[in-house]
Amino acid sequence: MRNDDLLKRSLQAVWHPCTQMKSHEHLPLVPIARGEGVWLYDFDGKPYLDAVSSWWVNLFGHNNPRIKNAIKQQLDQLEHVILAGFTHEPVVQLSERLAELTGLGHCFYASDGASATEIALKMSFHYWRNSNLNQKTQFISLQNSYHGETLGALSVTDVAIFKDIYAPLLRQSAQMPSPDSRLAEAGESAEAFALRCADALETYVAAHHPQLAAFIVEPLIQCAAGMGMYHPIYLQRAREICKQYQIHLIADEIAVGFGRTGTLFACEQAGITPDFMCLSKGITGGYLPLSVVLTTDEIYQAFYHNDIARGFLHSHSYTGNALACSAALATLEIFVDDDVIASNRSQAARMNALLAPVIAHASVRNFRHLGMVWAFEVANGNPHFAQDFYKAALAHGLLLRPIGNTVYLMPPYVIKAEEMAELAAGVLALLDECGVSIAPLLD
Ligand SMILES: *Cc1c(COP(=O)(O)O)cnc(C)c1O
Repeated sequence: MRNDDLLKRSLQAVWHPCTQMKSHEHLPLVPIARGEGVWLYDFDGKPYLDAVSSWWVNLFGHNNPRIKNAIKQQLDQLEHVILAGFTHEPVVQLSERLAELTGLGHCFYASDGASATEIALKMSFHYWRNSNLNQKTQFISLQNSYHGETLGALSVTDVAIFKDIYAPLLRQSAQMPSPDSRLAEAGESAEAFALRCADALETYVAAHHPQLAAFIVEPLIQCAAGMGMYHPIYLQRAREICKQYQIHLIADEIAVGFGRTGTLFACEQAGITPDFMCLSKGITGGYLPLSVVLTTDEIYQAFYHNDIARGFLHSHSYTGNALACSAALATLEIFVDDDVIASNRSQAARMNALLAPVIAHASVRNFRHLGMVWAFEVANGNPHFAQDFYKAALAHGLLLRPIGNTVYLMPPYVIKAEEMAELAAGVLALLDECGVSIAPLLD
């Protein structure tokens, strides 16, 4: 009965994120008592396989002993200290490690992804100010992009349901054609389409660069757009174009960083270094809120001056929180100790084989896979598909949250062979329940 009690109290007292609260009149809230590996358990002990990594943050499972112990050890030393005027071991070590891994030598911290986006936008603008290029105040992003939901981040986000109502509050920004290969012409390769989109980017940038501060982009996968994947050539061209026309390239790796696309950072697959990289979500293995913006010596130096106002006078109370940094260091250690990038390759190969019947299913369209992300559209005329599928998945003991008609799998990297088999079989059964082909999607 503790399940029911908690449900009632939560609906009374907690305003849940990204939710029309009235929908909980018919959609049950799921109370979670504990987690272990890929599993979440309610108070009756019913297990749910966390196939969305608790909103894309968890990498190495719930109740991970190594991350947990790192936090416990740090807890005995120092939980938190103001980072203005003070410093501590975990934040220094983490900054050094991230600099080695990205080639970007200066780390500015915050607590969530949207704040990292805000910081990158403000730094870019301020860099041009400090460089006496006061006209460079505009930002561009991709169609269907998602960079977070605070006002600055929402200004460069392009998801109507999150953005339209707030339009009067937002800065104008221009959206470039998305290289998402689902949008390619029939018969056009992902690469050819990406190049065509890059040409459109170049045309726009060539015409507007004196006013442009930065181009912000989600490398390789536009996750919130429904796991829209694209060819890395687009990032190579974007890097060249931004350099040629003197605008910053901001890589928002908040969702795709830390191995999700098959390399530690998605930018590696295009062989590029952005001017700013935003990281969050997986950075602490899903344990504690932390985000960081990494940037170059050149940008850092433009702020380094006797004049206080040329400095970056931005802050968040929990900037560089010591517990969160210790969780991030433990997470990076696991990548090295367990050779995670290589082991994920065999994980992915196994999952692909298990998904063969899903790929072949009559209502599956555009099946795609990159790294530890799998996605497809379901041909289905049901306007409530996402919610119906989500509910049916819960009944099967699976946590899956489709985006529109897109079903995606983004499990923690520690998912075991038998758990993968259970997930694949569950998805297949759900397609038979929910994937009845009423009207084929345009694809
Ligand atoms: C989740 C996400 C954000 C926002 O991060 P929050 O921590 O939710 O504010 C920004 N960009 C991308 C690509 C994301 O997936």
